Amino acid sequence: MLTVSAYGMKAAGQPLEPLTIDRRDVGPHDVLIEIRYAGICHSDIHTIREEWGPIQFPQVVGHEIVGEVTEVGSEVTKHAVGDRVGVGCMVNSCGECDECRAGNEHYCLNGNVGTYASVDVDGTITQGGYSTHVVVDEGFVLRVPKEIPYEAAAPLLCAGITTYSPLHRFGAGAGKKVAVVGMGGLGHMAVKFAAAMGADVTVLSRTASKKDDAIAFGASRHVATGEEGAVAALRGEFDLIINTVSAPLDIDAYLRTLRPEGALVNVGLPPEALPIHVSSLIGGGKTFAGSAIGSIGETQEMLDFSAEHGIAPEIELISADRINEAYERVVASDVRYRFVIDTATL
Ligand code: NAP
Ligand code: ZN
Repeated sequence: MLTVSAYGMKAAGQPLEPLTIDRRDVGPHDVLIEIRYAGICHSDIHTIREEWGPIQFPQVVGHEIVGEVTEVGSEVTKHAVGDRVGVGCMVNSCGECDECRAGNEHYCLNGNVGTYASVDVDGTITQGGYSTHVVVDEGFVLRVPKEIPYEAAAPLLCAGITTYSPLHRFGAGAGKKVAVVGMGGLGHMAVKFAAAMGADVTVLSRTASKKDDAIAFGASRHVATGEEGAVAALRGEFDLIINTVSAPLDIDAYLRTLRPEGALVNVGLPPEALPIHVSSLIGGGKTFAGSAIGSIGETQEMLDFSAEHGIAPEIELISADRINEAYERVVASDVRYRFVIDTATL
């Protein structure tokens, strides 16, 4: 067992603080990763503040992890010491159900093992990436191409795949009009990917403050949805909408901005239920869908796509002692566009 430095919450409702956690011994199929950078996802905040339900403490979160392999188990074939690798939102799955066998580990019928706050195969609670090291089964470790700047790579492991996957599945590409609602960590990646796929991208953000950034990330248009009548004026415009908003939204109003047979995919995960009128779907034969991260295979595809297209998240690199402040700024939508922790400061 390896005892490592981390930053987490010791008891419910407390600020995050330095602590130590134990990592298991490297098993035959495991790799030991020295973590270099860890992104802060809004899901970390929802989880540790128990907005999605009770969790056990102490808890360390973080599921946007990049680092270097420093040890491999005897049976490991995919990775070698010195490789630059990444870990996202899951660290294991049953491997035997129909979904796992089809390469959809993220939809494992027995529930995959989340990178944090999840019951691991040995019965312990998983601890996340705001730490110096992690031990992970090699099947859940991704190759991070050298073309992607090291500090900026981490957010691809959650914000990247969570937006890439539904854009891909719902056919974002040339000739398609895609809207991205909310331009935070996930939203800004959705804009970059949709533009790189060839779609015509509109950003729907509450104020005009992110307009220049939206255009710089590849959008052709930005609409400030907080202005009276702005959403209603977009009636029938879009083939596809990706909603990344972390709070409840008037879904019916956004469904009206879809063309007939268009789709609105919710990736934002507010704790509250979102009411919708089925008439908003029936008139126009529209689809309201959800999407969770992506498979390991698709995550690797997304990393390779990012390297090929020169896509990287926009980040603000912080030291560990600024994590609590960063959380407040994420909740206030005052992040451009992802905080990344330099784990050397742990
Ligand atoms: P984030 O950086 O905080 O971005 C959320 C954006 O939503 C904000 O930048 C803001 O954009 C908009 N927003 C926030 N509050 C709002 C409100 N009350 N009304 C309207 N718009 C609001 O968060 P994130 O890390 O991108 O995560 C977004 C959501 O996705 C979270 O709920 C997270 O848990 C979830 N998530 C889901 C998955 C999945 O697999 N489905 C994976 C990761 C995260 P503007 O300033 O542009 O308006
Ligand atoms: Zn996340």
